[in-house]
Amino acid sequence: MYEKKRKFHKNLREWSKKNLKNYPWRNNPTEYEVLVSEILLQQTNSKKIKQVYPIFIKKYSSIQELSKADENELNRIIEKIGLMYKSKRLINISNKIVDRFDGNIPSIKEKLIGLKGIGQYISNAILCFGYNKRVPIVDTNIIRIYRRIFDVKSNKNRPRTDEKIWKFAEKMLPENNYRDFNYALLDFGNKICKANNPKCNRCPMTDICYYYGSVVGKNESEIN
Ligand code: SF4
Repeated sequence: MYEKKRKFHKNLREWSKKNLKNYPWRNNPTEYEVLVSEILLQQTNSKKIKQVYPIFIKKYSSIQELSKADENELNRIIEKIGLMYKSKRLINISNKIVDRFDGNIPSIKEKLIGLKGIGQYISNAILCFGYNKRVPIVDTNIIRIYRRIFDVKSNKNRPRTDEKIWKFAEKMLPENNYRDFNYALLDFGNKICKANNPKCNRCPMTDICYYYGSVVGKNESEIN
């Protein structure tokens, strides 16, 4: 397992050198920028968020400004992505942060999760991308990568909530550069190890991938 993990890190690092996406919310973001971008990104895609994020951040550049936002005005900014319930959610969260934490976004998981609208994923995104802490990120793309490469299984209907998966993801973290590692995982699942038609022919993981070895590679050798 140690050797496989080492190769996984090396392959992912090499791949990410040329393939990491350059989103505006990834440019050394503050914890506030991570909070806003992650809530906006829920249930939609980065292509849409790219259209509204710069306008949003320009208008509301801090948690204090967001807490005073007019909901209708905020709706007008995010109407391109639909999902207007997010305006209220963002205002509510920022109000609570101002009231409970004096406007400082907590850097402790339990405090973040105590805020309605912030779950395990967003809290860890804030801790990792905003505070550069060594915590895992787990979403459906990342679960798929771990399932295919490492044959990690979950019995839960919603594997995202499976403690076993989170523990595995924690074990997979590198000793440093965890922010780049988590960004790379997200992009790798999005571009290469896709849910449908994974791009195995362009993938640097074929030599360590359980799925490739047991399904894709096997089929190819049977055809040849
Ligand atoms: Fe995913 Fe295919 Fe790469 Fe395995 S070889 S990680 S299944 S893209």
